[in-house]
Amino acid sequence: MNDELGLLYQDVVLDHKRHPRHHGPLPDAGCESRGCNPLCGDSITLRLRTGDGRIEDIAFEGQGCAICIASASLLTEAVHGARLVDARLALRAMRRMLSGDGEVDEQILGKLSLLRGVRRFPSRIQCAALAWHALGDCLDEPAAAAQERSDASGRA
Ligand code: ZN
Repeated sequence: MNDELGLLYQDVVLDHKRHPRHHGPLPDAGCESRGCNPLCGDSITLRLRTGDGRIEDIAFEGQGCAICIASASLLTEAVHGARLVDARLALRAMRRMLSGDGEVDEQILGKLSLLRGVRRFPSRIQCAALAWHALGDCLDEPAAAAQERSDASGRA
């Protein structure tokens, strides 16, 4: 990553950590998924309500490091109001990006592609992935299939 992109990454992560978007309860949620990352102490709950083929509303609560909270906040911003089919595309693109050497699809990911910065810090990839695992639960897209490739190359 060049320095300019690195600084932008830091700016965005800190901004979302300080001012998380869609942070709070969602009383009429249709799905709730809790995730925790004991290695770092991250713990978040993602809730969403779908209807008419869209994610009508989404919110998250919890505590975590800057990367965990920023990733969850960016997630909610990216898929709030999105068609389910587009949310699934974003989820898959995110998984590919976070799988280490995976491709970065900037067209689908937009601002989310800044999170590629975590790949420089393998221990933080789980922090960034936590909210996306929860989204996968709610969209009924278990991570197992997407992770086959990385499992095959020796990563758990
Ligand atoms: Zn973390």
